[in-house]
Amino acid sequence: MTRLLLIGPPGAGKGTQATRLALAFDVPAISTGDIFRYNVTNNTPLGARVKSFMDAGAYVPDSLTNAIVADRLEEADAATGFLLDGYPRTTDQVAELDRMLLAGGNQLDVVVLITADTEEVVARLLKRAAEQGRADDTADVIRHRLDVYAEQTAPLIDVYSARGLVVTIDGLGTVEAVTDRILAALAERGLHRGSSTL
Ligand code: ADP
Repeated sequence: MTRLLLIGPPGAGKGTQATRLALAFDVPAISTGDIFRYNVTNNTPLGARVKSFMDAGAYVPDSLTNAIVADRLEEADAATGFLLDGYPRTTDQVAELDRMLLAGGNQLDVVVLITADTEEVVARLLKRAAEQGRADDTADVIRHRLDVYAEQTAPLIDVYSARGLVVTIDGLGTVEAVTDRILAALAERGLHRGSSTL
């Protein structure tokens, strides 16, 4: 029964850590970015609705994003826990997630904030652009995504801090080092990983 959120700027390494933490805690990693990208790649009706927002580095409208997450959390594998990566990103999404959790009589355990300074995240995203060619990894769009994060998502840190849920993790260093930091911080909060090998 582990319910985690990962928050951090684009390029902080959320996706990478999400996969590893999900394995460690034996819960599904649910990434709204991955769900949207999958739909764009496969030309689904949802993909057609979200593509222009994603390409521009803008957020997909809350109503659509909330509906996608509500559906995903209804699936059987999320009943006993989950790790949400990239959701919520707006105060409206926080309210909606609160409502979903309350409806199931559940609550969040911890919000993991992964930090990395702007220079580092821009460098990482440009490197990823060269390697993977993601449509939203161009210099202009990256800058816009960082602005949108600062404006719309960074305020969520205060909201969750006020609830005593936030652990802040330095996202600089190797993938393994960052995972170890997160696992140590979670263990301090009484959240202990299972036995799967990372
Ligand atoms: P990153 O955080 O590295 O920019 P993600 O893969 O998490 O990348 O998200 C990519 C894009 O998907 C976002 O720029 C946005 O367009 C869309 N997206 C993902 N999650 C959300 C969300 N919770 N609300 C609105 N849009 C989202």
